[in-house]
Amino acid sequence: MNTTAPQAAEIDALVAQAHALRHTDARAALALAEHAHTLALACDHQRGLAYALLRRAVCLSILGDAAPAGEDCESLLQQAVSLLRSLGDQAGEAEALNQQGVRLGMAGHGEAAIRVFEQVRALRAAVGDRVGEAAALHNIALQHRHNGDLALALACAQETLELAQQSDDGRVQAYALTHLGTLLAMLEEPAAAEQHLRASLALVRATADRAHESTVLVSLSQLLRKTGDAAAAGTLAEQALVLARGTGNMGDQVDALVALAQALQEHGAHAVAGAWLDEAAALAQRRGDLSLEAEVLLAQAETPRALGRPAEALALLAQAHQLAEAAGALQLCAQAHEGLSLAHEAAGDLAAALRHQRAFQACERRLRNQPAQRRLRQFLQQQALTSAEHDAQAERARSAQLLQALDEARRAEQSRSQLLAELQAQAELLQQLAREDGLTGVANRRWLDLQLQRETERARRFGHPLAVAMIDVDHFKAVNDQLSHGVGDAVLRTLAGLLRANCRASDVLGRYGGEEFMLILVESSLAQALEACEKLRERVARHAWTAVHPGLRALSVSIGVAAFEAGAPDEGLVQAADRQLYRAKHAGRDRVCG
Ligand code: GH3
Ligand code: MG
Ligand code: MG
Repeated sequence: MNTTAPQAAEIDALVAQAHALRHTDARAALALAEHAHTLALACDHQRGLAYALLRRAVCLSILGDAAPAGEDCESLLQQAVSLLRSLGDQAGEAEALNQQGVRLGMAGHGEAAIRVFEQVRALRAAVGDRVGEAAALHNIALQHRHNGDLALALACAQETLELAQQSDDGRVQAYALTHLGTLLAMLEEPAAAEQHLRASLALVRATADRAHESTVLVSLSQLLRKTGDAAAAGTLAEQALVLARGTGNMGDQVDALVALAQALQEHGAHAVAGAWLDEAAALAQRRGDLSLEAEVLLAQAETPRALGRPAEALALLAQAHQLAEAAGALQLCAQAHEGLSLAHEAAGDLAAALRHQRAFQACERRLRNQPAQRRLRQFLQQQALTSAEHDAQAERARSAQLLQALDEARRAEQSRSQLLAELQAQAELLQQLAREDGLTGVANRRWLDLQLQRETERARRFGHPLAVAMIDVDHFKAVNDQLSHGVGDAVLRTLAGLLRANCRASDVLGRYGGEEFMLILVESSLAQALEACEKLRERVARHAWTAVHPGLRALSVSIGVAAFEAGAPDEGLVQAADRQLYRAKHAGRDRVCG
């Protein structure tokens, strides 16, 4: 039988309604998709059939319910993918593949899921769908996080945010912000995490996506609980639960229930928490999401642990560990090992406690490895810059306003003294906000101090290497005296350019004062820093300085290097580098000491 136009239109409308309803009422959406499916089969409307299959699969996946016998979500999706591909519908194929990726991730096939999402991204790029591309990238980022690769997760999440911003899409922007917030929380940057989650919440409230709002609320709740505000965490989790119950999204309900129970456990309300967690466990099992089940078990283990029943906690944690391993979820594995170590210790089995402590540390090292730290640093530096620029812009705007007001005040012959004082303060603030050294364009002393403080804290916290070099021009006074101050300035500018071009992008270079520069070498041991500085010294020595001024035949620098070492006495890195610089000068200049 051939499809008539009204029949096709009816099927298409049903499918579109099912799609629109999926996040607000997945049950009703499923019924519509099933109806569309039956109609499409009866009148042989291939495209309608493909989309009905896809919508059914999506609804089943959201609800977590079992499909009628012989028709599970996976086979519906596979049929949809094949049909859409044969119809040449790239956008539809991308959507069906995307669902397949989500399902693969849930079943613990992380690498396969990423490959499928890459296909989705390529298909969407091929049809010029930038927002869709960003959404695919968001899924890739999520999967990297799930697999424990936080560096890649952070990189992909940033790229997602940029893509979404370029296409001005609030929904995907909110997704990227939520994900960045979650990653920052995992990397122990609670302040930045909260900032991103709150920005996401504001965006998501302007959309119709209640499912996402519940996700953001859960993430915020977890963050607040960890930073010690269990009461606020409980309130947010309750709000999230109401939203998740409304949309029918099973995964969201489990997350909200777990967050709520964890907030209650903090208050010692273990009985109520236990009831919520029983419900969460039943939902997670129905959904067949291994990580979700592991998450619930981890939360459940907290009660016997707190109440001094280690044997009970051990049984739950062992199960959680098994599921987390099967799901390939590194973060959950780490949590399970940590819990197991504590519970074994409480039960008096110190050997087992030690074994799990070591396994926990191994997971943590993999999670917070150096690539992740490097990514995080770049990200935070970029954020600091953006916000400094933003502040400076706001201050400039305010200064302009004040100037105008001053002008009006003059004309009105009013007292200007207060406005003048305010202007003065503004000018000073602007100066402070600037991070660049005016002469050389590299960082100024204030920025150097800020970065050094931040890097030293990170090095101490994560036990990563860090080195500082002080670079001083040899006999610079002679350049000024013999060739003029202007030539001296040109030398400093050229030198700054040479240094910048010959150090790593992640290193921080700045003018410490006068003819002295500081280089912060992140993730560098003393030996690596000495090698890098020796290259810089050589590069300066063989530069054609006559290009700056014919009378300037040679110029050299002396460099003092010091490195942060865990456990070493806490002499300031700068003082230590200064002492080495002094040694270099005394040993005859044009050398590196450390
Ligand atoms: P040494 O090898 O021991 O470092 O000798 P030096 O001559 O480089 O050291 P000294 O500290 O005696 O001289 C530093 C000079 O740098 C003195 C100061 O006038 C000059 N100087 C500092 N800031 C600037 C600047 O912004 N521009 C110029 N042209 N000169 C500067
Ligand atoms: Mg000098
Ligand atoms: Mg000097």
